[in-house]
Amino acid sequence: MKYKEGSEIRDAKAPSGPIEERWEKRKFSAKLVNPANKRKLHVIVVGTGLAGGSAAATLGELGYNVTSFCYQDSPRRAHSIAAQGGINAAKNYRGDGDSIYRLFYDTVKGGDFRARESNVYRLAQVSVNIIDQAVAQGVPFAREYGGLLDTRSFGGAQVSRTFYARGQTGQQLLLGAYQALERQVAAGTVTMHTRHEMLDLIVSDGRARGVIVRDMVTGEIERHVADAVVLATGGYGNVFFLSTNAKGCNTTAIWRAHERGAYFANPCYTQIHPTCIPVSGEYQSKLTLMSESLRNDGRVWVPLRKDDSRAPGDIPEQERDYYLERIYPAFGNLVPRDIASRAAKNVCDEGRGVGPGGLGVYLDFRDAIGRLGRDAVEKKYGNLFEMYERITGENPYDVPMRIYPAVHYTMGGLWVDYDLQSTIPGLFVIGEANFSDHGANRLGASALMQGLADGYFVLPTTIGDYLADGPYNDVDEEAVAAAELRVRDKIDRLLSVNGTRTPDSFHRELGKLMWDYCGMERTEESLRKALERIPELRAEFWQNVKVTGTAEELNQVLEKAGRVADFFDLAELMCLDALVRTESCGGHFRAESQDSDGEALRDDEHFAYVSAWERAPDGPVLHKEPLEYEYVKMTQRSYK
Ligand SMILES: Cc1cc2nc3c(=O)[nH]c(=O)nc-3n(C[C@H](O)[C@H](O)[C@H](O)COP(=O)(O)OP(=O)(O)OC[C@H]3O[C@@H](n4cnc5c(N)ncnc54)[C@H](O)[C@@H]3O)c2cc1C
Repeated sequence: MKYKEGSEIRDAKAPSGPIEERWEKRKFSAKLVNPANKRKLHVIVVGTGLAGGSAAATLGELGYNVTSFCYQDSPRRAHSIAAQGGINAAKNYRGDGDSIYRLFYDTVKGGDFRARESNVYRLAQVSVNIIDQAVAQGVPFAREYGGLLDTRSFGGAQVSRTFYARGQTGQQLLLGAYQALERQVAAGTVTMHTRHEMLDLIVSDGRARGVIVRDMVTGEIERHVADAVVLATGGYGNVFFLSTNAKGCNTTAIWRAHERGAYFANPCYTQIHPTCIPVSGEYQSKLTLMSESLRNDGRVWVPLRKDDSRAPGDIPEQERDYYLERIYPAFGNLVPRDIASRAAKNVCDEGRGVGPGGLGVYLDFRDAIGRLGRDAVEKKYGNLFEMYERITGENPYDVPMRIYPAVHYTMGGLWVDYDLQSTIPGLFVIGEANFSDHGANRLGASALMQGLADGYFVLPTTIGDYLADGPYNDVDEEAVAAAELRVRDKIDRLLSVNGTRTPDSFHRELGKLMWDYCGMERTEESLRKALERIPELRAEFWQNVKVTGTAEELNQVLEKAGRVADFFDLAELMCLDALVRTESCGGHFRAESQDSDGEALRDDEHFAYVSAWERAPDGPVLHKEPLEYEYVKMTQRSYK
């Protein structure tokens, strides 16, 4: 696939000066909107997960006129509800040496020095407010015996800063955001449209001015215009077909905004989570995460010997290899996800994997149960153990869990500046849908932190700076009509192919191709193969897909077909980005670039940049945003 290199891109909004003062400085310099004017300003928020739900609620509370969309039947069903393990915050309740600076440092290092310092520092600062906000809403975080909020540890940190609500942290946080949102719906500041899918962005006079949505129940195509649009539409891990994401997660909203001019940043950075229930068969359509919190007490191991088929209980202690504790004594089982995933792959590649096909490692709670007692373990992780048992039929209190890495999160997303504004003025992107804070690898429990930081605290301030110049002129009718026509055309095209293969079968094939060629390990050869195969498969899709039903009814096949069509184009960009970045960093492991211990080898001289891709008629254009580190020294990451 051909691409061109374009001009350098810079984050013009990022303030300079001492890092701890930058967010204050930006807040002060941002223009304010007089309360009486706020109700004249209209903001569309697409997505009601933690990012979108918290943003819409807060904008409504501020007095803006908000319209909110999601494709589920309730805002409460956004994928955020699935988040299990917890949310980070630099509260230092434990007095174990945590601080804003340490959370900032851990996140920059965890992201393998591919995130912006200013953004990450702000995230760490705001993290402490999120916990207060959630507690004030009544989110039932776990508490210690003395009544204080409890914390646990997550990967890439040597302090305990993860706040949690058993294994249901996302659910409890989302209920908090949802209640705040519903309060605004009742107050009339937020108008909610569930079961509506955004299918295009309206850009008028160079500004994002609205969306075209399809009512998923009646099939009606609707136009909605506003002064600004916020996309909070989540991640695109489902491009791999099998992932831990909810089945509905897709790329359509951000991809179509990309087609309208928003740059796409770092598409190749995918997070593979080390602790998921292994794939069990060819017809499986979903993978299940076993939360990283389990690595607080569970020990990861495989047999020392190859092809050891003994039951785990029959393998004596001296014949077990607790490989994470052995290779990374300083962080042990709590190394970051990219490192733990690769280590699991390596031991399985050596023939020491366990379970069907040798694609699994043990996560063992024997010692924790011995030390703390079964009741204590059950209190912390009971629902996760139950989920594991229901899926595998094995009782993890008696036999170790079997786990294997799986696609989990996408660090890439639409490019945004410090204000969370994309390259299209008036289009803001928050939560997993943007690329902003995690570099090449996200640390566990930091996605909820970022989504809520964006939605409750950052966007409500920065969007004001943009809206202060509004209300904007009437929207160009032609731009609206053109966007609607594009949507109708695409639907008609999909329905008219009338081939023989389901959208799902194409998705499955694309996903397998992505996993094999652009998954946990990438090589120049594999990426070139993918870039050859994806256009062929896409061409077959457009000639042979079978979309049953009509456009004027509830039609899940049609919905799926539209999303798969976008996955094809995204997959191609992901592989191109992965091919261009010949270094390894974080979740992007190029087999050609590793050190003598098999660890990811960065190339700071050539790749210390964010790749921001523009979609142009004659092929993608790569704009590089240089990454400069004033506070954290770029070093080869070590967790040993
Ligand atoms: C199993 C699992 C467990 C996790 N556990 C944790 C954890 O413990 N801690 C942590 O920090 N992170 C965790 N994560 C990651 C975290 O859950 C997500 O990154 C985060 O919830 C994403 O939130 P979001 O608001 O950006 O998007 P989402 O919650 O995915 O919400 C997206 C919203 O956008 C809407 N939408 C999307 N496209 C359209 C469209 N075209 N039109 C209309 N609406 C649209 C959807 O309806 C939905 O409302 C976990 C992830 C998984 C998969």
